[in-house]
Amino acid sequence: MGKKIMLFLLVVFLVLVMIVLVKTFTFNSVQPNYPTAKLVLINNQAIVHLQQGIRFKTVSLSDSAKTDSSAFLALQRYLTQIYPLIHQKLQLEKVAQYSLVYTWKGKNLSLKPVVLMAHQDVVPVEKASAAQWKVDPFGGIIQNGKLWGRGAADDKISLFALLEATEKLLQENYQPKRSIYFVFGHDEEAGGKGVKAVAALFKTRGIKADWVLDEGGEITKKEIPGLHEKPVALIGTSEKGYLSIGLKVDIEGGHSSMPKTETAVDVLIAAVQKLRAKPFPASFDGSTGDFFKYLGPEMPFVSKMAIANQWLFKPLLFEMYGKSAGGNALIRTTIAPTILQAGVKDNVIPAIATATINFRLLPGTSIDAVFRHVKEAIQDDRVQLIKQNAFAEEASAVTSTQSEGFKQLEKAVIESYPGTLIAPYLTVGATDSRQMAGISANILRFAPITDLEGMHGLNEHIGVDEYKKAIGFYYRLMKGLK
Ligand SMILES: [Zn+2]
Repeated sequence: MGKKIMLFLLVVFLVLVMIVLVKTFTFNSVQPNYPTAKLVLINNQAIVHLQQGIRFKTVSLSDSAKTDSSAFLALQRYLTQIYPLIHQKLQLEKVAQYSLVYTWKGKNLSLKPVVLMAHQDVVPVEKASAAQWKVDPFGGIIQNGKLWGRGAADDKISLFALLEATEKLLQENYQPKRSIYFVFGHDEEAGGKGVKAVAALFKTRGIKADWVLDEGGEITKKEIPGLHEKPVALIGTSEKGYLSIGLKVDIEGGHSSMPKTETAVDVLIAAVQKLRAKPFPASFDGSTGDFFKYLGPEMPFVSKMAIANQWLFKPLLFEMYGKSAGGNALIRTTIAPTILQAGVKDNVIPAIATATINFRLLPGTSIDAVFRHVKEAIQDDRVQLIKQNAFAEEASAVTSTQSEGFKQLEKAVIESYPGTLIAPYLTVGATDSRQMAGISANILRFAPITDLEGMHGLNEHIGVDEYKKAIGFYYRLMKGLK
């Protein structure tokens, strides 16, 4: 009898091993193939343009009333000087005062247009950190083959590279088949009201775009373990939502010499702990699932096997990804307590204690679902939940990798950066493109930068050659537009 069971278990084991191996060996590459494209020659003048562009201090402050509008106007005047053909042949509109919309009419107006985006504004350089920069952050300085400065990578590279490529195409008398709208917001780093107004304007005009491209992903050689430094273009096909919920406990305070067994502070801390102890469920749906589909077959055997056999290894993969902050953010809605407030004096027990919890929502998880999750986790009627509306945003939809926009983007990437692997992915931060949800179902997030450094921090820079490549990338993307 025992022998029969052993034999049975052995057969089951062997069948499992067979299934795992077959699934691994039939997990085939879906990486696209395109022949090498012709080199796009870029004039050195283009670099001078971006250098000068960095010198305009188009800084977004959280209090938008304090924004220096003259810097934006000066930048815009400069654009009209250096790109004469664009300003002759394209229509320019200013929306919400400083956001720019350029319309490049296509040959066939019955085709849906595309929208190419970038933002003019940059984050401030804090006084305390300015001294730690190697060069003047607004000097537009080139040193060691690199262009340094605030906005070099986020996002003036895209703003200037798009315009540079367009001016070049106009010099060659090129006209796209379908119309192109360039949308350059002026307050992406401070909420994105500019692009919100552009989207509203497009809506009143009945404009529906085939696809939209904005910043968000980049090319990385070091972020994906197991790929041995092979460059991977991360193309954002969805974007996380944003929500802050205030927790408020309001119960009787008193003198600190005779504290009750439970004070407002105790109830609040317990609530935060209960919430942190109940993470949202993990998921490989949407963009992260597509990420595995594209990169899994390119990985070393063990990783490939695990990804090809999620029916067996999913819990293991969840655990692996859940361990790092970056990995965890890709697979679940995250919970981050950010502000805690209570008390004014050391000998008074506060009657009111509040906390702000910031959530980044995985596509598929709604704001309502987050509220339900929080209530269930805390299970205490003394804790009031208050929605903070200011930046609340549902997670985006997921753009299909079969969409025309995705196909065209991957073609331009591979032509411009041969040997690069394509990977759809979930953008964890917010971009202006979320405002375009009503304009197109196909929103893509990618900027032609490799392992950008110093974004929102110190010593932001890009390689000078990298900038030339970026212009070539947008040139091919527009020239290949179907
Ligand atoms: Zn940006």
